[in-house]
Amino acid sequence: MTRDALTTTPPTPSGTHCCTCGRWTTAPVVIGYTSARDTGFTTHHACPHHLTAPGPCTADHGSAT
Ligand SMILES: [Zn+2]
Repeated sequence: MTRDALTTTPPTPSGTHCCTCGRWTTAPVVIGYTSARDTGFTTHHACPHHLTAPGPCTADHGSAT
């Protein structure tokens, strides 16, 4: 490990919102992709709770700007 590894800006907190329940999860699992006109692709994630039973995507992926 180098000194820079300890002094540089830490990475952004890992995690994302679950597409099904909308809650923040630190262990997101990619459940699929959809094409988006602006960004090319939107990645959908689910929390472990909804991994095996994903519901309709309730995340507002279009308002990232
Ligand atoms: Zn969920």
